[in-house]
Amino acid sequence: MIQKKLLKSFYEPFYCHKQIMKSYRYCPFCGQKLIQLVDEGKVRLTCPGGDYTFFKNPRPTASAFIIKNDEILLAKRRIDPFAGGWDIPGGFMEEYESPVDTLKREIKEETGLLIEIIRFVGIFMDTYTYKDETFPTVNLFYEVKIIGGSESPSSDVSQLEWIKCNNLQEDILVFNSAREALRELRRTI
Ligand SMILES: [Zn+2]
Repeated sequence: MIQKKLLKSFYEPFYCHKQIMKSYRYCPFCGQKLIQLVDEGKVRLTCPGGDYTFFKNPRPTASAFIIKNDEILLAKRRIDPFAGGWDIPGGFMEEYESPVDTLKREIKEETGLLIEIIRFVGIFMDTYTYKDETFPTVNLFYEVKIIGGSESPSSDVSQLEWIKCNNLQEDILVFNSAREALRELRRTI
């Protein structure tokens, strides 16, 4: 078991690299073919001209546990990955956006609701697959309350559902980061 785990961690960068190769083949500045270079022990795609290195940094997201009385609002995903699965509403940060602005924008887009932050719950790491690429994510979770708007699913969400906090089984949530965040929410409530 331990050996299998070690092997997985050894090969993981190569799997990721294979996925990068599908999406990133040319330097976005000069158009030359990117080559693999080992930099600080990591395989990175680099321009042979030296003007570009692809760093596979995690992409940030912000999500909200929207709580009313003793219920949490869940969102059913309309899109892949995990289309049809249940999630905590939220999404990716846009260029130059702050996490709090992301949170308010995404919640408005997906649920129609205006929210106010009660507290920050924590940061949890995960991965996300978009088309042929799997990349790491850094996910910020907040506990929030509703201050306006009218509830209506839209954007990447096909359905909204209130569920009693005590009845929410973490394994119905499709992302590992959301399951970890739920555990933290409950631990610190
Ligand atoms: Zn270049």
